Amino acid sequence: RLAIHWFRRDLRILDNTALHFASIQAGSVLPLYILSDWKKEHHWTGPKRQSFLCGNLASLAGNLETVGGKLVIRCGAADAELEKLVKESGADAIFFNRDPDPFGRAMEAKVETMARKLGIHCEGFHDITLHPAGEVLTQDARPYRVFTPYSRNWLTLEKPAPLPKPRDLASPKEIPSLPLPDHSHWKLPDPQAQIIEAGERAALERLKKATSGIIQDYKLKRDLPGEPGTSRLSQDLRFGLLSPRTIYARAAKAQAETRSSKAKEGIDTFIKELAWREFYMAILWHFPNVLEEEFNPEWRGLWWAEPDELFEAWKEGRTGFPIVDAGMRELLATGHMHNRVRMITAMFLTKDLHIDWRLGEQFFLQHLVDGEIASNNGGWQWSAGTGADAAPYFRIQNPWSQAKRYDPDGRYTKKWVPELRDVPAEKLYEAPKDARPLNKAYPLPCVDHREERDRTLAIFKKHKERT
Ligand code: FAD
Repeated sequence: RLAIHWFRRDLRILDNTALHFASIQAGSVLPLYILSDWKKEHHWTGPKRQSFLCGNLASLAGNLETVGGKLVIRCGAADAELEKLVKESGADAIFFNRDPDPFGRAMEAKVETMARKLGIHCEGFHDITLHPAGEVLTQDARPYRVFTPYSRNWLTLEKPAPLPKPRDLASPKEIPSLPLPDHSHWKLPDPQAQIIEAGERAALERLKKATSGIIQDYKLKRDLPGEPGTSRLSQDLRFGLLSPRTIYARAAKAQAETRSSKAKEGIDTFIKELAWREFYMAILWHFPNVLEEEFNPEWRGLWWAEPDELFEAWKEGRTGFPIVDAGMRELLATGHMHNRVRMITAMFLTKDLHIDWRLGEQFFLQHLVDGEIASNNGGWQWSAGTGADAAPYFRIQNPWSQAKRYDPDGRYTKKWVPELRDVPAEKLYEAPKDARPLNKAYPLPCVDHREERDRTLAIFKKHKERT
């Protein structure tokens, strides 16, 4: 029996559910990745993430060889490419891991129809989260709308264990393949970005580092962007370089091995973040309309300002708010931004510049290496005050006091806004009083935070009265 394993957001050989079952159930496995055939600029992706994908595919091809696998690359619509490959190779089964987003689900449905038509076995597995969306429900079997009760339930559920390494895949060697893609495949400019190392091995190294100290100190340091205080595993989860089972198992092992209550608390907090990821995936699963409209119906139809030069200033990191500009420049340079700063920049766009969260959501997806539609949408709607969240819209973070609290010595800000390197840290936490720029190469704040905060409150209040 020959089975095709259709790789999607699971670019690893270890602890991969569909690959594991394909290797058990078929004598021979044909590993396949289908490249998207979009050629022009894409609203929801960009060169940094695509370049990380290229690195991951190269690494996957090498890793597969160690278990007798030969990766085949094709390009086009998944159902059509799979149909062609089934006919070419004589495969009688397709295995894949399910994708929770509406686009992935729509493609799976097409593939399943095609397989039925050809009369071959086609099996999708749950792999992307520890618990599928339908497993974490309220007592009356409804989806949760708020994180805290969701996480309470999620934490009580028994966690699935990692799976063993796949058996020898004995892939056919003669199936033609496109070359591994590089940047030219999508005709995108080389971003020259400082992107985190791709591939399963690099991801496993990051996991080792994270569980050897970072997650133990996580509660104390995770909000400090100037410290290496978070795991940096988000892109690995996004591309499936690591499985959530493996991450959870390593965190649980670290938890069992420590006697320090501080470290135990740190690891508990880290595990809760994994639940946030699964919460947003569950929200998207149950409420796919969040990609278009506000999760909270109360805020649909809210007024947003036309995107103008202030939006451009935000995108380029020249708003005159040092912490905001540092975050945006980190994003542009590396495709990553610290979580605390994602919240600050997202709230700044929506609450200080009054620009629609959908525009920020799109910009982040074009630049983030870990860009993932469920978490990104969740993060944006949370920041805009329209999301699955108990926090009321009138809790508006002040970018100046956030900077003072979370980047007290200005280390993060100065790293990404080098014009401010010689400015004393305390000057980074308040608008210049004398209206003189902090440095002649650095702009004055583009708005007055207090005025814009009042304006936001008025906008929300007016909307509430009107509806
Ligand atoms: P850690 O702090 O070490 O957390 C461990 C893991 O938990 C992360 O890798 C991630 O998978 C998950 N996680 C942590 N925080 C969150 C959260 N708030 N929501 C969902 N999952 C979380 N995360 C993405 O993976 N992709 C995105 O596109 C994305 N967009 C965001 C947009 C906004 C506006 C905001 C506020 C947050 C967004 N996040 C997104 C969540 C979070 O910022 C990143 O997951 C985190 O910064 C990644 O760094 P880390 O791996 O070091 O995280």
